[in-house]
Formats: sequence, structure tokens, C-alpha cells
Amino acid sequence: MRAQPRASHFIGGGYVESPNGAAFDSLYPATGDVIARLHAADDLTIEAAISTAREGQKIWAATPAAERGRILRRAAEILRANNRALSELETLDTGKPLQETLIADAASGADCLEYFGNLAATLTSEHIDLGGSFAYTRREPLGICVGIGAWNYPIQIACWKAAPALACGNAMIFKPSEVTPLSALKLAEALLEAGVPAGVFNVVQGAGDVGAKLVSHPAVAKVSVTGSVPTGRKVAGLAGSNLKHLTLELGGKSPLILFEDAHLDNAVSAAINANFYSSGQICSNGTRVFVHRSLKEAFLTRLAERTANAVLGDPLDEATNIGPLVSKPQLDKVLGYIEIGKTEGARLVCGGGAAHVAAFPQGWFVQPTVFADVTDDMRIAREEIFGPVMSVLDFDSEDEVIARANATEFGLAAGVFTRDIQRAHRVIAQLAAGTCWINAYNLTPIEMPFGGMKSSGIGRENGHTAIGHYSQVKSVYVEMGDVAAAF
Ligand code: NAD
Repeated sequence: MRAQPRASHFIGGGYVESPNGAAFDSLYPATGDVIARLHAADDLTIEAAISTAREGQKIWAATPAAERGRILRRAAEILRANNRALSELETLDTGKPLQETLIADAASGADCLEYFGNLAATLTSEHIDLGGSFAYTRREPLGICVGIGAWNYPIQIACWKAAPALACGNAMIFKPSEVTPLSALKLAEALLEAGVPAGVFNVVQGAGDVGAKLVSHPAVAKVSVTGSVPTGRKVAGLAGSNLKHLTLELGGKSPLILFEDAHLDNAVSAAINANFYSSGQICSNGTRVFVHRSLKEAFLTRLAERTANAVLGDPLDEATNIGPLVSKPQLDKVLGYIEIGKTEGARLVCGGGAAHVAAFPQGWFVQPTVFADVTDDMRIAREEIFGPVMSVLDFDSEDEVIARANATEFGLAAGVFTRDIQRAHRVIAQLAAGTCWINAYNLTPIEMPFGGMKSSGIGRENGHTAIGHYSQVKSVYVEMGDVAAAF
């Protein structure tokens, strides 16, 4: 097995096995080969993680913020120094091409650790003058935070949750997706090597049942989940009944709006990135591409020409642009939606089925697929597909496209392409989406808050905003005079 870790979990500063927990495999999506066999956490393992996190958090919270920051920045450097090995591991676990994982996974995780490492020592609180007496606030950690990841950006998601949590003095128990369990263990190794005390960052493996046990554990103060809307609803229910702080990063069906004055090739590039990067397995993808009727045919022609150049193939070859989907169930789901698009009457512009890559006959590859003449009522325009399937819809006016773009339960992201600066800001201001781009798509620098409105999420990751989601404010009134009482 090419990527077998020393044991399934990382708890209290070391690898731990739970031989009695249910066994599950990590598969290489290009071949279907088993690359690692792990065991889900049993109840004793979960309790061990909680107890070491409790101890570790006390030590970590008492560590000066500047020192916590220094340690997180050191962890960022360790990820960078190991970027190639981490990227290869991520490629084996997810099937995403090395061309992507070398720049978008551990690298983004390192940026995040560096950013929150830099921020840690700058966090200050308020002094409130009350005319003689005064009050001040203290920004305090929440305690034990649980992070639960999706399978599309495993180490990036782990870092996006761990970095702000640890910067604020919390401990974290992270449960990766059972589909991609491996890279979070490497993050745990890096944090320990950088100087994070044992117990402060722990990795516990398992499926949704393990996640649910962590979410409802009385010792846990906060939960942050990246996943689908149905999972988000379940977690919110559990977190609500146990009164936990909550961040939800969920799914989307985001609009990318191309006005008639859009720069054609930039707009095509954005549509490609917004639908085919990571084989379309990105939550913020702009899968509803609204194209002004006057631009439509030129856009579709250029898009089809450029999509024909996509190289599908060996994910470990840096020349490959598109790898397989993460799993057989995901492949079946995406192929099912492509058939739905055909039966719904959308016009197939390119792609339209599984891709056959000679050297990888068992790989879960899908052709980058574009449907045109898609209408708002079609399922391919309403439901999250999470694969390389683009729906192109026509529009005529600004008001019309805004209303149609917003007519969804989702609200994760949105993009607008136009050279009219006033229109760009006017339209963005009316879109119900948490993360927006003007003349760009899917860029997520750590400095910028990321997250969704409506059913796409609660709370934000990244940016200064994330600090508020991993800390709590204590107000302290200080009396400088006498205390009056009625009797
Ligand atoms: P998923 O919802 O199936 O699983 C996500 C995680 O939740 C997994 O670790 C899973 O084990 C866990 N889980 C499942 N049920 C649970 C429960 N009852 N209690 C606690 N944990 C539970 O999602 P997925 O298939 O891994 O990922 C794809 C989805 O994630 C897509 O909908 C995508 O849009 C979304 N996503 C969102 C973002 C974002 O930042 N908004 C980023 C990436 C992916």
C-alpha cells in the first residue's frame, strides 16, 4: 500500500491505532487501488482525543500569543519544505492532478498558518471609559474545537480550520473525510514538529457517525464543518441542541455572470476554472454561467475550442490538467446528472460522459462537459453536481440576471465579468452570495473572508473575520468608586 500511515489517528502528539474500529480504505482514484487501510475511532479513541485536547489546550492558551504565532509560522515553513511529498500524497488520496496539488493544497494551508501566525500577536481588546469606572474586554479561546472536513481539499480544509483555532489558543480535534483521511495526519506531524504542544491538534478518523459523536460531546465548545448542505443541517441540529458555536461551509450552485462587454478570453478562462478545476469538485464553483445573449455563441465556440485542449490523464504527471473524480459513487452521481441534462433537453456542447484514459482503464474520469440552452427549472441548473459539468444560461438584462442568479437556496459565491466598473459593483451588491469576484473567479487568498449566505453556510473562514468565530469576548467592569445599594 503506497500511502499507509503509521496508524489511523494522531492523538496527544503521536500515532494511535484503534484496531476494533471499523476498517475502511483510501483508494487511488486513477486506479481504484487501495493505498491505505485505516480504522474508524471507537468511543475510547474519541475520549482519548478529548482528554488530551483538554490538557493541551490549557498549556497552549497560557502560551504567549507571539509564541503561538511563531510556532504556526514554523509549521507553515515545514509544509512548504515538504510541499512535493504532501502534494503527491494529496494526489494519491484525491486523484487531483499534481499540477493543482503542488500549488493549491498544502501551499494554501501554509499560507493560512502563516497568516494566522502573523495575526496571533496583533489581537487586542477594548478599553471602555465609563467616566471614572471603566470596562475592558478580553478575547478568550473557546476551548476544544472540532473540525470536520470534506474530501475535495483535505489538507487545505484542515489548515483553514486549525490555523485560526490555534492562533486563538484553542485545541482542535479534526476529523477528515473518510474518503481522504491521509494528509491531515501530516499536518499533525508538522504542527508537533513546529512546537505545538501534544494534544493541541489531534486527528480522529471515521465517517459521519464519528463526526456526530464529536459534535455532540459535552467537552466540545465549537464545531466547524465543511461538507454538503444535508450534512450541514444534521450538524447544525446536533450543535444547536448541545448549544455549540458553529461554522458551516456548505455547498453551492453559484452564478458566474458574463455581460456583453466582458473580455471574452478572460471570461472563458474564468468559466473553465469555475467548472473544471479539480474536476469540478469545488464548493464555490460557478456552475450556472449566465452569458448575455449577444456574447453567447462566441463564448461557446471559444469555450469548446479551449476545452478540447484539456489534458486528462495520469494525475502524477505534471502535464495533466484533469484527473479522475474522487470516488466511484461521485462518478456515478456526476454521470447521472449528465444523463439528466440530456433528457431535460439541454444542448450538449462538449463532453457528455465518462472519459477513457488508456493507461487508467479503472480510473473515475469524466469528460469536461458543457451544456448550453439550459433553463432555470432544469435540475442541472438547480442542484449541486460537484463534477466537471457546466450549465450555460442566456440572459438579456441586468435586472433579469440578478433575479435569476438569486433564485436558489444556495448563496456561496458569485462572479461578474464586465468592463463597466459601476455595473460590476451595482450587480455584486445585489447578489445574495458570501464570496464574490469581479473579473475573476475562485481565487481565495487567505486574507479574504470566505463563506456562504443562505443554505450555503454560517460564519466565515479566513481573514480577520475568522478570529471572531474561534474566540469569545469577556467583558470586565471595574468599579473605581463605592458600591451603592438600596438598603
Ligand atoms: P459530506 O457532507 O458528505 O461530508 C463532509 C464531512 O462531514 C465528512 O467528513 C463526513 O464524514 C462528515 N459527516 C457526515 N455526516 C455527519 C454527521 N451527521 N455529523 C458529523 N459529521 C458528518 O461532504 P463531502 O461529500 O465530503 O464534500 C462535498 C460537499 O462539501 C459538497 O456539497 C461541497 O459543496 C461541500 N464543500 C463546501 C466547501 C465550503 O467551503 N463551502 C468546501 C468544500 C466542499
